[in-house]
Amino acid sequence: MLLILAVAAWSNWYDKLSTTDWDETLYVGIFPIDEAENAVARDYISDLSADRVADIERFLNEEAQGYGIDIARPVSVELYPPVTERPPERAADSNVFQNMWWSLKLRMYARRASRASDKPPPQIRIFVIYHDPTFSRSVPHSVGMQKGLVGVVHAFASDRMTRTNNVVIAHEILHTLGASDKYDPETLAPLYPAGYAEPDKSPRTPQPFAEVMAGRRAIDDQTFEIPESLDRVVVGEATALEIRWARK
Ligand SMILES: [Zn+2]
Repeated sequence: MLLILAVAAWSNWYDKLSTTDWDETLYVGIFPIDEAENAVARDYISDLSADRVADIERFLNEEAQGYGIDIARPVSVELYPPVTERPPERAADSNVFQNMWWSLKLRMYARRASRASDKPPPQIRIFVIYHDPTFSRSVPHSVGMQKGLVGVVHAFASDRMTRTNNVVIAHEILHTLGASDKYDPETLAPLYPAGYAEPDKSPRTPQPFAEVMAGRRAIDDQTFEIPESLDRVVVGEATALEIRWARK
């Protein structure tokens, strides 16, 4: 047990360093989960092509370069073939030990599932479960974990939602790099100032862009809007510091 913990601690430390030094391309893989029993999700996944996720890579690279990361391609985001096995589910009210067990299972799952294809496994693995929007108006919470460099995204199998799905995928990728949420979990309001794209703007609202880890832009003090695409999103300074695009 102690050995496992020691190895895990070492590998967490190594992962954190090697994914945030920004001196070579970081490889991210998007793995759609094959939903054999759901025709809408199945059709959506079979239509998925690299251009559907292209704006994630473009967004991350433009933002990175804006913070002075001066390599040609800081991040590569690639679509992988669908995976048939579903990621382990976390129980709604799990205690700390159940959570540890779940995260260990998720890491083992990610290792197994990302090696199933012919392509070399990426450093960061994002598994995307597509839900049929006619049956599910809302989907479970997505997660991105720096420990294990793995994320699970719940998305909608709809062309209309592809660009919003990509906002969620970008958010979870940044969690795997150590970025924290910048919204109030009760009200979903972006936190001021870290969750504002332009905290110095006067008047403060409406904000034209959303900060990626806040997930919403403030229209006024009470109204917060999910951006329709990554064109309306920026990486704020607090997030850039967390993922080491910027230094204090
Ligand atoms: Zn989050």
